[in-house]
Amino acid sequence: MNKEIAEKLLSAKKVVFVTGAGISQESGIPTFRGKDGLWRNYDAMKLATIDAFYDNPKLVWEWYNERRQNIFSSKPNPGHKAIAELENFLNVVVLTQNIDGLHQKAGSSKVLELHGSIVKIKCTVCDFKDEIFTEFTEFPPLCNCGNILRPDVVWFGEGLPQNVWQEAIIHANNCDVMIIAGTSLVVSPANTLPIYAKQNNAILIEVNPDETIMSSDMDFSLRSTSATALPELVSIFKK
Ligand code: NAD
Repeated sequence: MNKEIAEKLLSAKKVVFVTGAGISQESGIPTFRGKDGLWRNYDAMKLATIDAFYDNPKLVWEWYNERRQNIFSSKPNPGHKAIAELENFLNVVVLTQNIDGLHQKAGSSKVLELHGSIVKIKCTVCDFKDEIFTEFTEFPPLCNCGNILRPDVVWFGEGLPQNVWQEAIIHANNCDVMIIAGTSLVVSPANTLPIYAKQNNAILIEVNPDETIMSSDMDFSLRSTSATALPELVSIFKK
């Protein structure tokens, strides 16, 4: 492990993780970009929009149902577990773009889900919201008010819940180290979190096998998968 990274981590009081689909790739959950992002020849990014939903709610619900089945049978990988274990040594907050709940399953206690959760649903018309852990059998499922239910996730083009986003900015503003793992950093506004951190003199560490559009802004880039790199980072504290 790079000595400079070790020193920064050992002297840090608060570490914020910004995570994306890549951190769950080694748990068998496909990312959106690249060939993984195709589902029955549909582009995942084009299905995750409000327009796609209203054009064909049955199709989008079938896609979500398969994602639900995949996520429910997935387990946290060593990357998620390393982040949870780091809480034994530091104040750790996870700001995730993922909707899969694997950080919480791994044991992380402070997780902000910026884009919602696969278990949450809400009515497209009334105020009904719920968490559903079983499978749906009819698509689209209907609310008791008679209108269509939708996944309670943030689709491309939609705004984040303001309370969640404001809290995320506060954490980004007051961390010493931000570790950005498994995200292409192309989705806004989550991709501005490293900028908030940098403005407040935090060290930025990227964990990604590939370069991202913000790699040149990073203080360190670990070109490795999160299930390999994150346990190595935590091992610094066990020496
Ligand atoms: P993305 O698909 O745009 O990018 C994934 C990134 O992860 C890429 O940069 C890739 O190089 C990297 N990566 C791939 N495998 C990796 C690994 N093993 N370890 C570390 N990095 C790896 O994902 P994004 O930036 O999160 O943006 C896409 C949107 O899709 C987000 O809004 C997210 O909510 C959603 N999404 C979530 C899930 C999930 O909940 N698991 C899955 C797919 C998409």
